[in-house]
Amino acid sequence: MSDGGERLGIFGGTFDPPHVGHLVTAVNVRHEMRLDRVLLVVNHQPWQKLGTREISDAEDRYAMVAAAVEGVEGLEASRIEIDRGGLSYTADTLRTLLDEDPTRELFVILGSDAAVGLPTWERADEVREMATIVVVERPGTREATPPPGWSWIQVEVPRLEVSSTDLRARVVDGRPLDYLLTPEVIETIRQRGLYGAQVTA
Ligand code: NAP
Repeated sequence: MSDGGERLGIFGGTFDPPHVGHLVTAVNVRHEMRLDRVLLVVNHQPWQKLGTREISDAEDRYAMVAAAVEGVEGLEASRIEIDRGGLSYTADTLRTLLDEDPTRELFVILGSDAAVGLPTWERADEVREMATIVVVERPGTREATPPPGWSWIQVEVPRLEVSSTDLRARVVDGRPLDYLLTPEVIETIRQRGLYGAQVTA
């Protein structure tokens, strides 16, 4: 841990399912920002996505994230939003993490699409006060401009054109998942019969 308290990254998402793009982002931001740990925080109810599609059960999504990061130094699956229940607001998550340890320095990690929506978040001003925002830029994409009143640190990570939407469709169609998801996540999908997968013993 660094001298001034833990440098803690918070990378939140629906993770339905968590893929190599998420993992490459988490490890590279951890390295570039010299973070002690990055928590992959599994949303309980992503309030801005409700009603847009059916979202997998939070426990299934947590199981996939836990499988994805097991044994990876500095990455951890967090169930903080699942255990709190209800709608998932980042401001509440940051408050809990600071209450646990006020010496922590918090870094909220976001892709550029998610970052432009920051002003629409619940109690966005609290998020801005409690954490440094780190926005991930993928090479070849246009740099996102912070909304008025916001600033952020940009970190470039390798661009992997992987999307959870495509991966769910791949399971339905029986197309390959290899190298897009970790073997442990593929196994979890099969064991739990997620996205219509055949359940395996
Ligand atoms: P998401 O769709 O599950 O995505 C999770 C993160 O992964 C996003 O930052 C996304 O960036 C990134 N990502 C997706 N595909 C990627 C790839 N191929 N390579 C690298 N990164 C990739 O989650 P979300 O709905 O955008 O929400 C992100 C966080 O914001 C969550 O923690 C959520 O709780 C929080 N949020 C909070 C509020 C609130 O507090 N009121 C409101 C909305 C969101 P891109 O979006 O740029 O792809």
